[in-house]
Amino acid sequence: DAEPDVFDHPVVQEYSPANSSAPRRKANAALVMLARNSDVDEVIRSMKRLEDKFNRKFDYPWVFLNDQPFNAEFKKRTRAATNSKVSYATIPHDDWHQPASIDEERAAIGRQKLIDDDIIYAESVPYRNMCRFNSGFFYKQEILKDYKYYWRVEPGVRYFCDIDYDPFLLMQDEGKVYGFTISMYEYESTIASLWDTTTRFMRQFPEYLVEDNALNFISDNGGETYNLCHFWSNFEIGDLDFWRGEAYNKYFEYLDETGNFYYERWGDAPVHTLGAALFARKDQIHFFEDIGYRHEPFQHCPQGNAHAKGRCECDPSDNFDYEGYSCTKKWHKSLFW
Ligand code: GDP
Ligand code: MN
Repeated sequence: DAEPDVFDHPVVQEYSPANSSAPRRKANAALVMLARNSDVDEVIRSMKRLEDKFNRKFDYPWVFLNDQPFNAEFKKRTRAATNSKVSYATIPHDDWHQPASIDEERAAIGRQKLIDDDIIYAESVPYRNMCRFNSGFFYKQEILKDYKYYWRVEPGVRYFCDIDYDPFLLMQDEGKVYGFTISMYEYESTIASLWDTTTRFMRQFPEYLVEDNALNFISDNGGETYNLCHFWSNFEIGDLDFWRGEAYNKYFEYLDETGNFYYERWGDAPVHTLGAALFARKDQIHFFEDIGYRHEPFQHCPQGNAHAKGRCECDPSDNFDYEGYSCTKKWHKSLFW
């Protein structure tokens, strides 16, 4: 089955320190990981892999966020895993926990409904706290206030290829606001009312909808329904100022008022995706074809000359992009609509 070779664009060269004798330009950026103390082993694995493949050459600071204070062991081990600056913050109580305005009885009924549907994390309140935090609070954290770009890292992820250029500078120089590697369909029952809420928001605040947006990636019928496609947000390289902007913040507040981060189980991935698709131009969203990445149980392995260029260790035929549950083909197609 011959696919058009649109993914085989030449790998970006201009952002590579090796190609320049001038003092290296650097973006105002951080590697950001939300984690628990108990995640420390997998945190170190992710760090070590990203350091080896990218950051020991580029020296971006690490920022760790947690709803609990990080303990001495976590700090000692993470500091030892990098030469770069590392900092830690405890998330303010109200940025994390279920708000008092949530009707707990209704929330329990909502959780039970997802348990009956056999949905992952159906029963979990902490998971919902995490999704709401990542949707509307991470970019407001004091510790990130002086940064413009972030790279989201999770415990236990893998990077398969050498990253010899600076993806943050690519974002900056090309005016991108959101970068992804993997996309897929969401479980419908976790976001049953998200699209209705979103369309109500759009009707109320049409001024926020950007021209040349990516609506055709998230809807197959011009916006009547959501096709459940979302960028997998455990990997993100993004512009914090985009999330901090008026459009996305109003949108998040509007979503949050419904309580459905708790009554349903709205994920930060579909929320970020809808925000990026509606309030950014399509050309401000970037597919990082050349960043080989795995978060269990799926991976993106670079194809074509990107694989050799990055000396990738993954099997190019083990690549989620082409599988039925991926939305990445739809993404590529949407670029030509
Ligand atoms: P999944 O990728 O959707 O299966 O969810 P994860 O369990 O990987 O959680 C997503 C991210 O949030 C990871 O970076 C976790 O370390 C972090 N996380 C999840 N729950 C908590 C929590 O209760 N406290 C803290 N501090 N981090 C959490
Ligand atoms: Mn994860």
